[in-house]
Amino acid sequence: MLWCQGCPWRCGYCHNGHLLDPAGPGLLTWDAVLAFLVRRRGLLDAVVFSGGEPTAQTALAAALAAVRALGFKVGLHSAGPYPDRLAALIPLLDWVGLDIKALPEDYPLVTGVPGSGAGAWRSLDLLRAAGIELEVRTTPLPGLDDPAYLKRLMQRLAAVGVRRYVLQQCRPVDLLDPSLRARIRPLPARPAGASAFDQFELRTG
Ligand code: SF4
Repeated sequence: MLWCQGCPWRCGYCHNGHLLDPAGPGLLTWDAVLAFLVRRRGLLDAVVFSGGEPTAQTALAAALAAVRALGFKVGLHSAGPYPDRLAALIPLLDWVGLDIKALPEDYPLVTGVPGSGAGAWRSLDLLRAAGIELEVRTTPLPGLDDPAYLKRLMQRLAAVGVRRYVLQQCRPVDLLDPSLRARIRPLPARPAGASAFDQFELRTG
């Protein structure tokens, strides 16, 4: 897994606040990453770019191509804030884990950014249309986690063709907004609406 710096959003439950600044000091140079991967050829099957938001990096396409050229499969974790950039990356990807945080109209409650839901849901449409292997995940924000809301969200996702879906428990550690900690509650093990997917998983760890 490679963690990329930068993200245009500021979700209160973000655990990677140290990665959000695109100009913050990195831990490794790209040359050092490639040298590491050269030594791992034949030992690792795939490399997943995560973050932060990897698509915030303008050099991401070149990085994906370089990793593929070494013979690795390539995965991407994204929240989909840049649908046009994501669309251009699809030919370089084998798998995408896409965060869908809420119904489109509720995104600003999660990300702090007006209009952010339209981009994320457009990214979902583009990935579905491309037919790439896709896992959609939601970490419900406290306050957007009641069973009726989750059911509406899942019904909407199933209606646009999502087949593999993961609900992720918000963890009370390293939160960008520590005031959320007291409002986190356990997710239901089998929420209404989960049966709409071919594959459903509740991730609590
Ligand atoms: S989109 Fe992801 S990386 Fe960006 S602030 Fe939200 S949780 Fe953190």
